[in-house]
Amino acid sequence: MTRTRILLASLAVVLAFSLLINLRLGSVVSVAAQEAVTSTSTVIASPTNNGGSAEWTISTDAFVSKFPRGGEFSLKASSSAGKITSAFAFFQVGTAKSRRRATAQLDQDTGTWIGRWDITNIPPFVPMSYYWVITDEAGNTYQTDLKDTSYADNDNEWIRSETEDIIIYQEPGLPDIYVQKTLEAMAFQRDFYLKHWGTLLKYKPVAVLYNGYQRWSAWRPGIAGGNTSIGGERNTFTVGQALTDYGVFVGTARYNSAELSPDKYAFGIILHEIGHLYQGQNGGFFGASMPLWFSEGDAEFFNAYMPEVNGELRTARVYAQEGRLPRLMDIGDNGLLSYFVGVSFWTWLTEAYGDDIHLQIVQRLAKNKNWRDALEETTGRNFLDLETEFRQWLGIEEAAPPTSLPTLTPPPFFATPTFAPTKTPKP
Ligand SMILES: [Zn+2]
Repeated sequence: MTRTRILLASLAVVLAFSLLINLRLGSVVSVAAQEAVTSTSTVIASPTNNGGSAEWTISTDAFVSKFPRGGEFSLKASSSAGKITSAFAFFQVGTAKSRRRATAQLDQDTGTWIGRWDITNIPPFVPMSYYWVITDEAGNTYQTDLKDTSYADNDNEWIRSETEDIIIYQEPGLPDIYVQKTLEAMAFQRDFYLKHWGTLLKYKPVAVLYNGYQRWSAWRPGIAGGNTSIGGERNTFTVGQALTDYGVFVGTARYNSAELSPDKYAFGIILHEIGHLYQGQNGGFFGASMPLWFSEGDAEFFNAYMPEVNGELRTARVYAQEGRLPRLMDIGDNGLLSYFVGVSFWTWLTEAYGDDIHLQIVQRLAKNKNWRDALEETTGRNFLDLETEFRQWLGIEEAAPPTSLPTLTPPPFFATPTFAPTKTPKP
């Protein structure tokens, strides 16, 4: 066992927590926004009689990102009916359904209305859109056109790439091969995503590819130090995370002086994380109330780095045949098991019930169906029977799940000649 493998095995432990924490981060963010969060629809209906009886002139309408601490909306406008008395910037960040509102103050010196957005903990280059609603002293109200912008990191140099599948911001120094492989992987997997989700992402995801932890630390202090004792395991390093609320993947192929191969990073980690973005789009149900093995296994189903996936499948078999495989519902938040058992479950499910089973299940999930009901309805089998079939497939002779689980001692390392599940840990 090489040192690298030990590290990789450790990574998976942390990864387990990634989606849940992402979701939590998202909700904290919306609550913490300055000013009240409005719940207006994301579709901006052009108001009837926009502007009232006044003539409106807009001379400045801008958003300046102050990443990593939010940004500033500025508006210079005038009405033929009198002074402007209030101005609000309504803005949407990432894939959030609701808009936030920044109450602007008039800068008397410049005559510019300034609305501040104070935030931390959001990655750079999250897409944004906004519009203003302004009112004059005669009571006329005007809504400006919707503008697209980005929570850009203007303090650092970035190399931008874009294809029909993804937008990449690459930190200089990270070898181009990681970007090339990422673009390749996204194109390679496009049809597979489409087939299994029924639709592509409705937005173009953003990937921020760091060359280490320094820039990452700007909005995630402490990320460089690794994660100690997560899951009772060794120190681990986060190599990537999907932020489903923002449609953004961030990660680095270089951690703790080691690095991931470009193929493994792009076809393994990134495609897995993009899988989480699809989950987020699909009604947002993945990860909320469903077990980790189900959601992480599903994301891992989109990993196209086959040496790794095949290794996970082998590991699940070894566990099963050695009597170390717990019942599915007893896996809990064990990240190691969630990955290789979860991906084995989804692989078995499509082999046993047809390749369209995934789409059928997620369509039920998208309609608020509980994950277990969706699974049982789609297959026509109850969960216990499904689990028994799954265990048979893994080579267990006495396939009915045990009534009490074997002691869950996370493996000290992967003893079998497999690749450890590696995804994207996040503390
Ligand atoms: Zn994951």
